[in-house]
Amino acid sequence: MAPCGVDKMITKTEKTLHLKTNRGRKVRVVREHYVRERVPCYSSLCLDGCDNGDKVLPGDLTHYVVPDAGVVVDYQEILELREVQGIIFTQTACQAVQHSKGRRQYNRLRNLLKDPRHDCVLFANEFQEFSYRPREKGESQEKWQTRCVYSAAVWYYNHLAGMMDVVMITEDREAVARYCSLNSGVYVISVRDYLQNFWSGVQAAHELYGSICQSLLEKESEGAEREFTDYLPAQVLEAGIKSGRYIQGTLNVSKHRALTEAWVTTGGLSDKNTELSSEVLVYGNKNRNRAVHGDAVAVELLPKSEWRGKVTALTEGQGEDKNGEDIQSQPVPTGRIVGILQRNWRDYVVTFPPRDSTQSQSRNSQRILTVPWDYRIPKIRISTQQADALQDHRVVVRIDSWESTSLYPNGHSVRVLGRAGELETEIQTILLENCIHVAPFSDAQLREMPVNSPEKPWRVDAAQAAERRDLRESHLVFSIDPAGCEDVDDTLSVRLLAGGKLLELGVHIADVTHFVPEGSLTDLEARARATTYYLADRRYDMLPAVLSADLCSLLGGVDRYAMSVLWELDAQTLAVDKVWYGRTIIRSSYQLHYELAQALLNGEEVQVPELAHLSSHEKDAKLAQLTRALETLTHVARHLRAQRDRGGALELEGVEVRAQLDHDKNITALVPRQPLEIHETVAECMIYANHWVARKIQERFPHQALLRHHPPPRQEFFSQLVDSAKSKGFTIDTRSNKALADSLDQAVDPQDPLLNRLLRMMATQAMSQALYFSTGATSQDHYYHYGLALDRYTHFTSPIRRYADMTVHRLLTAAIDTEKGRRYAKALATNKEVEELAHHINQKNRAAQQAQKLSTELFQCVYFKDKDPHTDQCCVADAVVYAIRDNGVLAFVPQYGLKGPVYLKNREGQVVSAGQDGGCEWQSGSVRRYSDHITTSSATGTTTLALFDHITVGISVQSSRCHADSLHLELVDNMPHRGTEVPQPPSHGRNQLVQEVVRLAEEASQQAQEKAAQRPKMSKQEREFCQSKSPNLYLLLEEIRDLALMDLMDLDSTNSA
Ligand SMILES: [Zn+2]
Repeated sequence: MAPCGVDKMITKTEKTLHLKTNRGRKVRVVREHYVRERVPCYSSLCLDGCDNGDKVLPGDLTHYVVPDAGVVVDYQEILELREVQGIIFTQTACQAVQHSKGRRQYNRLRNLLKDPRHDCVLFANEFQEFSYRPREKGESQEKWQTRCVYSAAVWYYNHLAGMMDVVMITEDREAVARYCSLNSGVYVISVRDYLQNFWSGVQAAHELYGSICQSLLEKESEGAEREFTDYLPAQVLEAGIKSGRYIQGTLNVSKHRALTEAWVTTGGLSDKNTELSSEVLVYGNKNRNRAVHGDAVAVELLPKSEWRGKVTALTEGQGEDKNGEDIQSQPVPTGRIVGILQRNWRDYVVTFPPRDSTQSQSRNSQRILTVPWDYRIPKIRISTQQADALQDHRVVVRIDSWESTSLYPNGHSVRVLGRAGELETEIQTILLENCIHVAPFSDAQLREMPVNSPEKPWRVDAAQAAERRDLRESHLVFSIDPAGCEDVDDTLSVRLLAGGKLLELGVHIADVTHFVPEGSLTDLEARARATTYYLADRRYDMLPAVLSADLCSLLGGVDRYAMSVLWELDAQTLAVDKVWYGRTIIRSSYQLHYELAQALLNGEEVQVPELAHLSSHEKDAKLAQLTRALETLTHVARHLRAQRDRGGALELEGVEVRAQLDHDKNITALVPRQPLEIHETVAECMIYANHWVARKIQERFPHQALLRHHPPPRQEFFSQLVDSAKSKGFTIDTRSNKALADSLDQAVDPQDPLLNRLLRMMATQAMSQALYFSTGATSQDHYYHYGLALDRYTHFTSPIRRYADMTVHRLLTAAIDTEKGRRYAKALATNKEVEELAHHINQKNRAAQQAQKLSTELFQCVYFKDKDPHTDQCCVADAVVYAIRDNGVLAFVPQYGLKGPVYLKNREGQVVSAGQDGGCEWQSGSVRRYSDHITTSSATGTTTLALFDHITVGISVQSSRCHADSLHLELVDNMPHRGTEVPQPPSHGRNQLVQEVVRLAEEASQQAQEKAAQRPKMSKQEREFCQSKSPNLYLLLEEIRDLALMDLMDLDSTNSA
């Protein structure tokens, strides 16, 4: 259509709106309303030349569905299921959601409409001249909306010339009766009928429908007695926050004292409140006033006389209420919540109460109080008739509302995860609780993938070959990875130029973005996941296997596309002469693993598989060439490392910590050290490439490049490290990264190598997290990477498993293109968009780390569960005290890489007392804490535990019905565990542990399958969730190990697998 015609087609009318103000007053607003003849229909069947854009409804469906406003408001979740296709959301319905449900649900709807993976479109029905119906006098809002939606449905049917049946769904029975036979081809039915007729196979839709109906029914019968204070109106909150009367922040519920203690963490307080730290304590249920962990809230400070202290003792039995007698710190700012700025409710996994208590409840009503898996979330009341069937299952629920008249929030169930306690259910629980969605890749996504099959092998494209620099003949390229690695992101090359005066170092990275265009379905999925997820027994890939394990993977002996960085260095001084960035074609000659590469460097006799078929003469020559390359690489890497060391890089590779810390900054598990120099060599080359790519994209795009920084730690976080070291006579200097690195190197006790490791763990704990950011969002002095001692850093070298790297590849491509005077195809993301992406990836990385940590803990518990702590030697181990608390110590068990509290005083007031032989028993007595030790006194005598003491602990499992099981450490002996003078490499215990658990779980699931053939459907689904092919346990463990090391204060060092 010619644009000049547009004006003529616009007609002005008036539209009356009835809005509710924030105070709840109703107002009538008259607005000018313009309608036009042409409004896009977004259907591929359109014959009328609508300006439809990219996202259109397919033409091969049986029908399109147009939900009524009330249906979208109440049943949006059903429409969010990807199985339900061909949905037309009317503007009328969307506005109804905006007005009656608020910003959160409205945003969800908007995202749904934007997401090309969902088959739904928005029809601006109120702007369409022939579809729009003005409201009639005396007509209720709901009736009018229904009439508008029906009119839109009829318009569609006519616009598409009757080629597609249109179904309108509504819960208004009158409307069904009135409209059902008004126009042929336009059907009007209820939601229930619709689901039964059209989507009878989509079980999830039916379950959701049932549970939402129940919850709507219950809502109507709600009581009126007030349990909480009402929230203040939005304008009052806003004004109060501006004036400093209220403080805004995010509610963080204490994991260990969930019922009583919560903190509102503020993002830096205004000057008016300088006396406050960054946290306000919210004590008790009434003051918390229906806020849920994660909500953005406004808090009002209580008078100083009502301030309380923080409980400093270890709490036994999480989430349980304890009264008053706890030791408290000095009173801290304490407040009450007066309003919610934004709910941050997510899906929660819950468990139903045991059968007897259910029954007494259900006699009166259908309402069940379910217990969330996460201690920090309050019980959620849901309405269901399936309480008995759902016994002992883990169920996903959503919170609908929390009225001031209700002690608990109301919610509805979404789906059943499986039987509690089964390994698969527990893993799915961990994923869901961390908002990790890893459904199998859809057919539409897989259709985007290139083909590589024996019949149709993938080949280098001639046009690509012409554009790319061809390194296949000129460069000896090889990869070094953990043995068995499938997804090879990175390869290396090194050679002499100019008669030996120059040395050329090359890093060649899988060219993932060549295969994944920006905005494609695969790209969107990868972006949503942001990373590959590594759990204890499996992984969920960010990209489909045809890319991650095949076409992108830089395998040996095949042609592959790469993104390369080539440095020309002075062969003597190694000073950089020139850097070249660009797209290349490579053919890797050797796919080495670390042990093999190190053996070659050490001059050992080893077999290189790639050379097996050659004559010994040829073999020797090739071997000599490869070994020379590895030696040169090692030489260069040592030089680069020394350069960074002088700048203050932290030497932490000896630390075997996963940087995943829980809320209370406790250490989690340790992973084995990898002592081969070749690891460092490869890591150093990758750090170098990441650094130089960061420089390049930041110079070219100073306001919109994705970089990664590591802020310096806050000095007060070092106090535990400094004090602990002092108790052993060491001084730790934390003034700079260089000083810290040097003093950590000095703090070595020749008698106990664990001491240095623990100190380094504490240093790691004190670190901030490394984070992605947009260069336009912060000033240059905040670009610094503290751990690596580099002024600029980013992630470029692992695009197969990190979305950040894919973004950086696109930025680098754009930078190269602009230099060549070429225009890049897509508009570059703005600073705001890059910053949003950075935030999203940071969040997903935290979720990935958390899920990995929880899955490891799950395996540890399964491992110890069936062992008798009194007879099984596996359950007794050596442990080291690493922190002192009021009623016990925190201890680390190197053999299993686990840590936890060891109580010296129990709830009955008894204390642990060691006898002459060191053996311990519970007796009445008292406990006393000092800065670096703790003592118990009883009739038997005094027992002392000091920092870094080796003790013997018994490990047992504390089972929980509704939450994750946890490990319990008990003091068995206050002496080191006999028989472990030479500590085993920690890897041994961990690897064995996971292997054994996997084996037992497989056996159990096989038995279960044989026994219960009635549930094959579920276990098939469960199996499909796991996308990793051929579960090669060694490989998976290597990956976890690798990732764990990388997490280590994010040195980003081992991103080579
Ligand atoms: Zn059209």
